[in-house]
Amino acid sequence: MAAEEQVSEDTWEEEERVMISALEHYSYCPRQCALIHIEQTFDENIYTLRGRQAHERVDVVASRVEDAILVERALPLWSRRLGLVGRADVVEFHGGVPYPVEYKLGKRRDWRYEAIQVCAQGICLEEMYGVPVPGGAIYYIGSRARREVNFDATLRAAVAEGAAMVRTLMRQTWLPEAPNDQRCERCSLLDSCLPSVVVRPGRLRTYRAQIYRIDEGNGGDRGEEEGA
Ligand code: SF4
Repeated sequence: MAAEEQVSEDTWEEEERVMISALEHYSYCPRQCALIHIEQTFDENIYTLRGRQAHERVDVVASRVEDAILVERALPLWSRRLGLVGRADVVEFHGGVPYPVEYKLGKRRDWRYEAIQVCAQGICLEEMYGVPVPGGAIYYIGSRARREVNFDATLRAAVAEGAAMVRTLMRQTWLPEAPNDQRCERCSLLDSCLPSVVVRPGRLRTYRAQIYRIDEGNGGDRGEEEGA
């Protein structure tokens, strides 16, 4: 597989290429996408730790036949049309038709974010192998359950739109607003993002005022104190 070579020939500049994983992050929360893919922020929590351990099994490039099906692990992916790059956890080849399988630790109530990611993998595989890829799956490691995903027109449109929006996000110089809703509860970036603070500038002003009051109470100007 010469995926990397072929990507380098395409018309997208390197900085314009969109990581497939960024599509999932963007659809979940644009601010999370910007923090991870632009600011390179990464905080470890129990979910990311477990997820990383679970992914280690499929992060090693390997190719083997299992039950008469060719299975590729950690397969590099690209789409010239949409300017996407990434890597598939697992691709099964059923009679020559690729079938991407994205590994996730546990089930989420709302799985459309993961569906966008696996559909983007399917779109890449269609372009790489020149065959229609009608569907794929999300495999939940915790429960060993497999959710089939049909790559319908709506999902494909969401991938194309997501790629364009992530590209726009990568060009801008400010962070998107924090939604500060139930999505934040399990977000690994909660401590870096501080959504409940940034969502209300008034609260930020109060914190800043408190910090200065404490500083004054400790003897005034910090620069003098430090003997600068
Ligand atoms: S904490 Fe909330 S607002 Fe911040 S990146 Fe995560 S989901 Fe988005």
